[in-house]
Amino acid sequence: TSTFTPPEKDLFTVNSPNVVYTENEINTKYTYRTTLVDKIADRFEAIPKEVVYDFKVQRKVPKTGMMLVGWGGNNGTTVTAGIIANRRSLSWDTREGRRTANYYGSVVMGSTIKLGTDTKTAKDVNIPFLDILPMVHPNDLAIGGWDISGLNMSAAMDRAAVLEPTLKEQVKKEMAEMTPLPSIYYPDFIAANQEDRADNLIPGSKASLAHVEQIRQDIRDFKARNNLDKVIVQWTANTERFADLLPGVNDTAENLMKSIEHGHEEISPSTVFAVASILENAPFINGSPQNTFVPGAIDFAQKHNAFIGGDDFKSGQTKMKSALLNFLINAGIKLTSIASYNHLGNNDGKNLSSHRQFRSKEISKSNVVDDMVEANNVLYKDGEHPDHTVVIKYMPAVGDNKRALDEYYAEIFMGGHQTISLFNVCEDSLLASPLIIDLVLIAEIMTRIEWKAHTTDGATEFGNFHSVLSILSYMLKAPLTPPGTPVINALAKQRAALTNIFRACVGLEPENDMTLEHKLF
Ligand code: NAD
Repeated sequence: TSTFTPPEKDLFTVNSPNVVYTENEINTKYTYRTTLVDKIADRFEAIPKEVVYDFKVQRKVPKTGMMLVGWGGNNGTTVTAGIIANRRSLSWDTREGRRTANYYGSVVMGSTIKLGTDTKTAKDVNIPFLDILPMVHPNDLAIGGWDISGLNMSAAMDRAAVLEPTLKEQVKKEMAEMTPLPSIYYPDFIAANQEDRADNLIPGSKASLAHVEQIRQDIRDFKARNNLDKVIVQWTANTERFADLLPGVNDTAENLMKSIEHGHEEISPSTVFAVASILENAPFINGSPQNTFVPGAIDFAQKHNAFIGGDDFKSGQTKMKSALLNFLINAGIKLTSIASYNHLGNNDGKNLSSHRQFRSKEISKSNVVDDMVEANNVLYKDGEHPDHTVVIKYMPAVGDNKRALDEYYAEIFMGGHQTISLFNVCEDSLLASPLIIDLVLIAEIMTRIEWKAHTTDGATEFGNFHSVLSILSYMLKAPLTPPGTPVINALAKQRAALTNIFRACVGLEPENDMTLEHKLF
């Protein structure tokens, strides 16, 4: 045990023999309880199981930078201006009154975790999510990145047409001093209609080691210039087409590197960015739907013990879908079809008006029902599945104010039907920006958590979480998981995993809603 007393700036400490604070670490012994199931003929036997883990969380919050690929786009400019506005506590006039900078829509910055029950009043005590572990505050992030368009960030923010002029005016000077670094552009991967903005390019139009090296150098320079301990890289550039999965080309780490060296045409810019980030030990997150993480890229990350996460920000329609399905199917209502229509008028919509890029989005939007349907073997038998269709149309006039119309059609008691119609309108980039922040903050803290298991043969060595950070699933439409492990789309489960893993790291039991203390007298 340690006699170290955590500083009072920590909002809470855990008073337990299983949790020891030192100046640099929180050390926790945690018992993970699950249930194993044996299938014997047509019945089951459930066997409670316990594994004891040690968790170690580094307490020193590193100076962290966020580098965005596609920095000059709608998301990139919006998240940057938003962080500047928060940093400076700006407020601005709108026709509806004065508005003040906030982080609404960020789980880390805008939501709470129940810490426990007050000893005196028996009421719940809730704390900001940000305080459960020693996380980076977004106001402290250094921001940079790349874009194939060379507009400075102020002009790019104007082009995005997302933020109010009265806000833009106040961040204009700072934004104008930032210009995205030149990027790599392989025209075949994004829509042809993007070509006219590609004026800020690293020479070469196919993958090369020189491209990997230049991006690595950019990350190192950014780190040095801003005096950073750590950089997180995130793809918020245009949706690319899927890369073909080819044996010998992108199937293993070794083949992928060879293919980059030889300039193979199936290596996408996003995969080149992933490889460069992995080599710089900078976690890389893919916010778009394409298959950046071809098997060779996942293998490459694992071999380098680097962190990756993806795919595709889950901001509007899909977030509603994974919440609504979670509810409907768990309520025993048999959903039989989902029809999703979108129209949007920003540059993302323009890029998605091209078939191959739309196809990436369609795939990423389509699989979100699978785990919930599969889990309910009472409603859905023998591979039965609801019909599901996704339509996206480019409608310039609506700009960033994306429209998502969904019809959920379900079978209810005794052959009856329920139709739920949703119409979701919101600025796409104002939903995506807080997710970009969450992904950076959560990926960052995951680099500071180590674990070891106590097995019958003794304890293993401390190690990191798996390279593929499936803990980021809540923020992502098509969550990437460690090869061979299940994908969870149900929003409530994703949220519970995030909350409870963080709780475990400080020796707290998973949040449960039994509240026996209020039920058993
Ligand atoms: P955007 O078109 O405004 O921005 C993308 C930027 O990427 C552009 O500035 C473009 O010039 C740049 N770019 C393209 N290829 C590049 C490359 N190789 N290197 C560097 N920069 C490059 O789009 P956006 O609205 O900011 O969305 C960004 C991405 O996030 C899209 O793929 C979109 O599908 C995805 N996404 C957005 C949301 C959302 O906004 N709610 C949700 C999910 C996914």
